[in-house]
Amino acid sequence: PVPPGATPPGTGAAGAFSPERARAEVPALHRTVNGHPLVWLDNGATTHKPHQMIEALSTYYSAANSNIHRGAHTMAREATEAYESGRAAVADFLGAASPEEIVFVRGTTEATNLVAHTWGRDHLGPGDDILVPVLEHHSDLVPWQQLAAERGARVVPVPLTPEGTIDQGAYADLLSYRTQLVVLSHASNVLGTIPPVREMTALAHRYDAAVLVDGAQAVAHLPVDVQELDADFYAFSGHKIFGPTGIGALYAKSALLAEMRPWQGGGNMIESVEFGRTAFASAPHRFEAGTGHIAGVIGLHAALDWLSGFGREAVAAYETALTAYAQDALQAVPGLELLGPATRKVGALTFTLAGHTPEEAARWLDDGGIAVRAGHHCAQPALRHYGLDSAVRASLALYNTREDVDRLTESLLRLCEAGG
Ligand code: PLP
Repeated sequence: PVPPGATPPGTGAAGAFSPERARAEVPALHRTVNGHPLVWLDNGATTHKPHQMIEALSTYYSAANSNIHRGAHTMAREATEAYESGRAAVADFLGAASPEEIVFVRGTTEATNLVAHTWGRDHLGPGDDILVPVLEHHSDLVPWQQLAAERGARVVPVPLTPEGTIDQGAYADLLSYRTQLVVLSHASNVLGTIPPVREMTALAHRYDAAVLVDGAQAVAHLPVDVQELDADFYAFSGHKIFGPTGIGALYAKSALLAEMRPWQGGGNMIESVEFGRTAFASAPHRFEAGTGHIAGVIGLHAALDWLSGFGREAVAAYETALTAYAQDALQAVPGLELLGPATRKVGALTFTLAGHTPEEAARWLDDGGIAVRAGHHCAQPALRHYGLDSAVRASLALYNTREDVDRLTESLLRLCEAGG
């Protein structure tokens, strides 16, 4: 924690964020790839890890390893405290009303599936609608298709405007008292665009529909306040926010969690067990069967502290400026076409390049030590909206710099000079 009045680490004299300290604290950014210093522009897929988070994992395993909740000894108590303090940190990070509103899961995908299997099974039936914008990640679509098939409900696509934003008029028209759920990303993994989540949620609530917000691409870049958004559910993955893989969180309003049935059964999630009847533990423990990813929670806590220490507003402002710089810089590349709107977005720069497939461009960049992703980005309907089945995505995070963007631009210019 930064003492009141002190300048947070990584901020310059004027309080503006500067990325050098963040870069210095992330060891993987200092390796070379194919003989070149790494430029990591695949943050949408996963982020690199600060040494504070790596040390938290290492310290846990080397000095504090224990199972939680069930042991009566000192190390079990310490591990339990560390795990629950991770839950409090996530609650605080998301602006939740209480730590009891946070369920630990493997990641965003598991969070969505948890909601589908528990809340979804109890709330969806024949004639009910689930609204999913065409832009969404497959993990916000496929679990609902599976559930809709099982329950006789419908998944209704919310169309996009030609530019690629969610068509708000169509959304308003599609909402009805049949709508039980709206699934929506806080930031698109394809375009980086940030839809008007608060307004869309308020509109859904007029029809008593619940809203599941996928925060996978938002949490590392934007301050999040689930109460302000009035989201019913909010999900994210630790590995996309400088934390470990295999850990993530689902926020759900306490009233919803209280009425939701567990989905997996086993140890840790019960109050008492008899052959005739089992009483389940209260939320959130009811949803965390078996031994959880204790080290993951501890690592996630360290990662959230690391990010928060820079000031999330300052990080967001820095990334917005870097995104604008990158959009300008990429204009210089002949035949490069950026997808989607240029504003109100986190730093995902998705493009096609005339004369080169996305895969060729990504391979060329990789040869020069620059990591981007080419493909459908787990959002095939979104790419089809542009008549594409693949595109290149360069995605930024707080440790990226103008030099990284310049390396990307220069490499693409050389590819164009080299020809098809
Ligand atoms: N939702 C969005 C918007 C994503 O970008 C991703 C990952 O790319 C996911 C969900 C799935 O995350 P995970 O694979 O960590 O469960």
